[in-house]
Amino acid sequence: MLKDSLIFRWFLLLMFVILSSCGNSKYIRRQFDYAKPVDTHSKKIDFQTKKLYKAGQVFADNRFDGARLNDFKQINDSTYQVLIEPENTPINPSPWYAFKIWSEYSDTINLQLKYKHAKHRYDPKISSDRMHWKTISGYTYNVDSTAISFKLVVNKEAQWLAAQPILNSTDTKKWLDSLTGNPLVSPVQMIGKSVLGKPLYMLKIGTGESKNKKIVVLLSRQHPPEVTGFKALQSFVKQLLKQDTLTKAFYQKYEVWLFPLLNPDGVDLGHWRHNANGIDLNRDWANYRQPEIDAVTKFIVAESKKYHVKPVLGIDFHSTFKDVYYIFDDSFHSVLPGFCEVWATSIDRIMFPFKTKKSPYGMTQPISKNWFYKQFKAEAMTYEVGDDTPPNIIEQKARVAAVSMMDLLLKY
Ligand SMILES: [Zn+2]
Repeated sequence: MLKDSLIFRWFLLLMFVILSSCGNSKYIRRQFDYAKPVDTHSKKIDFQTKKLYKAGQVFADNRFDGARLNDFKQINDSTYQVLIEPENTPINPSPWYAFKIWSEYSDTINLQLKYKHAKHRYDPKISSDRMHWKTISGYTYNVDSTAISFKLVVNKEAQWLAAQPILNSTDTKKWLDSLTGNPLVSPVQMIGKSVLGKPLYMLKIGTGESKNKKIVVLLSRQHPPEVTGFKALQSFVKQLLKQDTLTKAFYQKYEVWLFPLLNPDGVDLGHWRHNANGIDLNRDWANYRQPEIDAVTKFIVAESKKYHVKPVLGIDFHSTFKDVYYIFDDSFHSVLPGFCEVWATSIDRIMFPFKTKKSPYGMTQPISKNWFYKQFKAEAMTYEVGDDTPPNIIEQKARVAAVSMMDLLLKY
């Protein structure tokens, strides 16, 4: 009799351990299999030579974070050529460039941007203060679109010329620090370091303790040139920091975790796509071989466990040729089933006639969107902004998206 009750107690204890470990599997970071796995073991990259280039009377300079210029030379009386190369290959066709240019004497030169391993993609932007940018749209292509040429007035004053406005890791940290004056924002935390030892930062937005809150995670800049996506994130966050009745109600139930720059090395090295180990970080969300993705996933899982909370929505801000929402197809049943579809429709309704394509996808690749689902059964979206989407539309849509997200999450 005594023996039976002892066995029964052991049985109960065993069942308890099994059941509680099942319930907590979201608090153990798991590795995931994909039909088409991606090899994210580190690869060699080429570092650009950082130096001041002089060709005739014209100077070009890549000695700043975010710069990319691989060579600069004069090819005839009035034509100067900038060579742009990727960090390694194969690589996505997103040829980032950024450099300073000036001349000993005022002159109008013919500037050629020549790309290795890509065709032209980004309209050149020019700035005299790195804050205000003007797009140069009048240029001509060479025969296979691997180079463009345009006229440029140069003088002693240096001008920045870049594929998109330059926003490097220092700019991003300054932006984060500027947010911490808002009472909804917690102090900036360092969650780990990049390959080259740059800090990876996050901050929380909400009221009171994380405990019992549902978590919305915001990510950005796994891919360095995707500045329009980052701009959308900034406007989205601005709206989340308004102190009004909507945010007041929202933060009683939710908390936002913001990771604004997942690839600081790639951004500061002026990479087209990869981190300093030559890897596309948005393919490493299954095996965590790269320190940036290892750190962010470890943090999200550990912090969720610590406060006994769960991410319910992950939004990853990117850029591509046109605005797109990558969402889940109907076969996935997240904790907020169909939320992103409803949300995207609601944004479209308010932004009419500006319409954004919805692209439902299966679980094909080890990207962040799929990780949120596999790890937490969370809903997720890749919020893609077009390379040339006008800044006022980026801002307006991001603000509408933030309001609409809060409103719908409170009803869901
Ligand atoms: Zn991207």
